[in-house]
Amino acid sequence: MSKTIDAFDEIVEAMGRDAADPMVIKPPPPVAPVPKVLRVKMWKPEKNESIAWMCREYLKKNNHGCEYTVQMGDIKERSHKYIHISELYKCERLIASKMLGLIEPEKISPELKSIFDNGHGVHGRLTTLMDKAGLLVARNVDNKIAEWGCGGEADAIVRVGSERRPMELKSINEDGFNKLGSEFDEIMQNGITHFDNLLACYVLQVQGYLKGLGLMRGHLWFENKNRQSWRELCVERSDDAIAYIEAKCGKIMRAVRGGVLPDGPCVAAYDSRAVKCAFGNKCFLEKGAA
Ligand code: SF4
Repeated sequence: MSKTIDAFDEIVEAMGRDAADPMVIKPPPPVAPVPKVLRVKMWKPEKNESIAWMCREYLKKNNHGCEYTVQMGDIKERSHKYIHISELYKCERLIASKMLGLIEPEKISPELKSIFDNGHGVHGRLTTLMDKAGLLVARNVDNKIAEWGCGGEADAIVRVGSERRPMELKSINEDGFNKLGSEFDEIMQNGITHFDNLLACYVLQVQGYLKGLGLMRGHLWFENKNRQSWRELCVERSDDAIAYIEAKCGKIMRAVRGGVLPDGPCVAAYDSRAVKCAFGNKCFLEKGAA
């Protein structure tokens, strides 16, 4: 007898057969009426019962006071001995002040740590996907523009036909995701003229990797955090952008070597950019280059 029929017989057996006639299945016993209201007991756990609270405490204890987390589960201090390609869009005075050790490492809140870890999770998922699809060449590829004091880590190198290209993965919220279209249009129409356009910041980052890796084209892949929908852009190496990076790095490195900060864009401490800046409270107390 096949397994299927065995299984069927077991069900019939469980439901019960009429003793007088084994071919007749007995009617099922009466069941209690279906309740209309489902009463459930719930409570908010105290600290000693709350797993989330204990995890939060763990994160707080293991936060050694640094600016950035580079690995899932760990917090490591980000080196400021060189200019990070991912920060090239930032104010040169801010970058130089970090390199000169004028900014105390920030404590990372458990919430911010979770945001970073989420981003690492997205990177892991998308690079695994690219790998399975046969498109991934390498993950987390270090590259340097040593002569400019600049370096960074491209999220991935992918293959498009016989070409190798850096891939930058971005996990962004719905609001940022929806702005990508207009930011793209603005750059296509006017070029990059400012870095309040978030897409421009990412494009500059890809330009840094293209220079560092000696490649001609790169990709930006955005995932919407709210809905996991995707948008992708290809970015071609731009002589203008590379010249901008060279000039900016030169200005920062000269300032760092001379120990004098370059000028920044803010004119007063209440400038909207200064209010959000990690160096904002000290910026107007420090000596400037000009
Ligand atoms: S306060 Fe303004 S000028 Fe000063 S470092 Fe920050 S962004 Fe630059």
